[in-house]
Amino acid sequence: MSLTRLLDKAATGGRLTFEEGVRLYERADLHELGSAAHARRMQLFPSGVVTYVVDTTINYTNICNVHCTFCAFFRPEKHKEGYTMSHDQVLARVKHAADLGATQIMIQGGVNPELRLGWFERLFSRVRGEFPGVDIHSLSVSEVIGLAQVECLPTREILARLKDAGMKSLPGAGAEILVERVRKRISARKVKPDRWLGVMREAQLLGMPTTATMMFGSIETPEERIEHMQVLRELQDETGGFTAFIPWYYVPWRTPLRGKEASGLEYLRVLAISRLYLDNFPHLQASWLTPGLKMGQLALFYGCDDMGGTIIEERVVHDAGSTNEATRKQLEEIVAGAGFTPVVRDTYWNLRDGAALAS
Ligand code: SF4
Repeated sequence: MSLTRLLDKAATGGRLTFEEGVRLYERADLHELGSAAHARRMQLFPSGVVTYVVDTTINYTNICNVHCTFCAFFRPEKHKEGYTMSHDQVLARVKHAADLGATQIMIQGGVNPELRLGWFERLFSRVRGEFPGVDIHSLSVSEVIGLAQVECLPTREILARLKDAGMKSLPGAGAEILVERVRKRISARKVKPDRWLGVMREAQLLGMPTTATMMFGSIETPEERIEHMQVLRELQDETGGFTAFIPWYYVPWRTPLRGKEASGLEYLRVLAISRLYLDNFPHLQASWLTPGLKMGQLALFYGCDDMGGTIIEERVVHDAGSTNEATRKQLEEIVAGAGFTPVVRDTYWNLRDGAALAS
């Protein structure tokens, strides 16, 4: 099939095979690829609404026993720069975010073996009790598995207890590239791809919505990026539990792995193929935190329908060398400047003031 016919097929929601995905990703003209992705996005959400959530990320500890080579944030146990916030310190940050209108918090950190399940249950119960209007979209598969190891309990039970304590949904952090060859090089102590997918499946079957991420631009090949999308697409076919896909690129500047930062053109190419290949994912997020708000604006023409969050406070990506930040006003200006209508959503994509995506 010619590239033009392949683009037409993908733009109208036709499912791409692995080989077709790789071919389009590697060989299609960037603007034609973007145009197909944008056409597909507008078919799915013709109202021209672009959503965002008012949220914050609270990195409660930087102590971690996983030691990923792409990470500049973590400190090993006993390191003098290691920190763990108290519950009161976390609650103070939640209050600050809630006062600014946040409806979602991401409490995420390293895999700190000193912290037991009860520590998180008490924290989440307090957040839920004191800030009932704030959804706890928190932790990651790595932290859930770390807790299962410390407590000698199955991950499903850890998730069920965290859910009972108030954790509403599980972010897709820690996926990086779900290909064993890549994980061995950049995060050898992290779980294998099947295990990451297995914990996601458990969360989804417990009724917790989840997202999926892809950190690209470290050592993976183009085929491995599509392989990552393929395993996510298969799980989504099975469960329908992913709300959004969030590709973001690796920031190398202060990491042990080093390397180069992906270009803006590469970022747009990844977004466009994500929209076309992940035909069963409803939302594609412009992860403006690494490429910046202006690239985030351009992303709205390459398949994205969501600007992510305001991210009032965040350390992991900033520690790797990213300096981007945004206020709510800036996000809205960026969206409106591109000709779309900015609308606030919550963690479950309920839109403010009865706005609609479909008409
Ligand atoms: S990316 Fe996460 S799991 Fe890996 S070293 Fe950093 S904090 Fe730890």
